Amino acid sequence: MSKLDFITERLQSLQAQGLYNTIRTIESAVDAWTIVDGKRVLNMCSNNYLGFAADSRLCAAAKDAIDQLGVGPAAVRSIAGTMNIHLELEQKIAAFKGTEAALSLQSGLGVNLAVIPLLMEKEDVIFTDELNHASIIDGCRLTKAKRVIFAHCDVADLERLLAENKDIDKKLIVTDGVFSMDGDLAPLPDIVTIAEEYDAMVMVDDAHGEGVLGGHGRGIVDHFSLHGRVDIEVGTMSKAFGVIGGYVAGKAKIIEYLRQQGRPFLFSSAATPADVAACIAAIDILTETDQPVQRLWKNTHYFKEKMKKLGFDIGISETPITPVMLGEAKIAQEFSRRLFARNIFAQSITFPTVPHGKARIRTMISAVHSQDDLDFALQGFAAVREELL
Ligand SMILES: *Cc1c(COP(=O)(O)O)cnc(C)c1O
Repeated sequence: MSKLDFITERLQSLQAQGLYNTIRTIESAVDAWTIVDGKRVLNMCSNNYLGFAADSRLCAAAKDAIDQLGVGPAAVRSIAGTMNIHLELEQKIAAFKGTEAALSLQSGLGVNLAVIPLLMEKEDVIFTDELNHASIIDGCRLTKAKRVIFAHCDVADLERLLAENKDIDKKLIVTDGVFSMDGDLAPLPDIVTIAEEYDAMVMVDDAHGEGVLGGHGRGIVDHFSLHGRVDIEVGTMSKAFGVIGGYVAGKAKIIEYLRQQGRPFLFSSAATPADVAACIAAIDILTETDQPVQRLWKNTHYFKEKMKKLGFDIGISETPITPVMLGEAKIAQEFSRRLFARNIFAQSITFPTVPHGKARIRTMISAVHSQDDLDFALQGFAAVREELL
């Protein structure tokens, strides 16, 4: 017996349950066609909504930034790591989102770990959707506040729980904007209305909304015209923006508080000039044109329509996230392997990312897919189903 035997057992158990992740290796830029494990495949599962991950304008901005500012700031933001380029990005995010101010951090996960524990203390209460992203759950876990989980997108349940806890002074409602596994939208207008009634703060994680929803991809708040009524918007630069990094947008007061006391801001080094410059370029492009967003939606409608005609269960998504529901983890994994054999890269998603029995292949539509690409994917899905189910 060794003290690490428990790890061997856990890994074997994952394999036995069909929950062991095959982590494939990307060997080219992430684009419509990507080299994965040595072969060129149609990429149907990156979060590269707008094709910005390999966009030449973002790449050029990153290279320029390296030439001017080097590869890293070598400090946390609060000591010696805040460069002019970080401030420029923050101004652009605030302008893009239509908020007073914004703060950029290293990741979307980091943002949730920064904001929730900062705002919420022991005597407070957090209302959190049962399907919120893991980083929101972890942000809640870092506080001593009371946690109240409401049924998924269920405003009546939320209202009942708010009423039960109405005597608690400080309340925060937190929700994903777009739920990443099913692609459905939070009922944000109703959440905001009810929050106003109970004097609760509202925080929305727009990771899968920006670049996708609203005018020019400004996100879910813009989509529902809720400007000024959502206290905290957080999100990521790692999905539609194609780069890496997280942000918080909202009232200047909140941003200032984060700069003073947000732990991931204070204790983890600043994002690199190349990343930040690429993010700025992404926002500049979207501010100027909504063409990539239009193409994304055109492709989305096309693919979903055809998948439905083929008889696939593509769930309840209202966004380019298109889950192909397959049920058992082992079937979803085998389906994915067979797609890959047909040069289609679309990974299966299983427990614990989604509940047991709800395994799926989550396809992600991108503005850089051509109609031929989408047709190729459709044929592949139909052929594998023929073989397997
Ligand atoms: C992807 C995602 C994150 C994490 O963002 P990163 O920048 O990749 O750390 C956070 N929240 C939600 C809702 C997400 O979908």
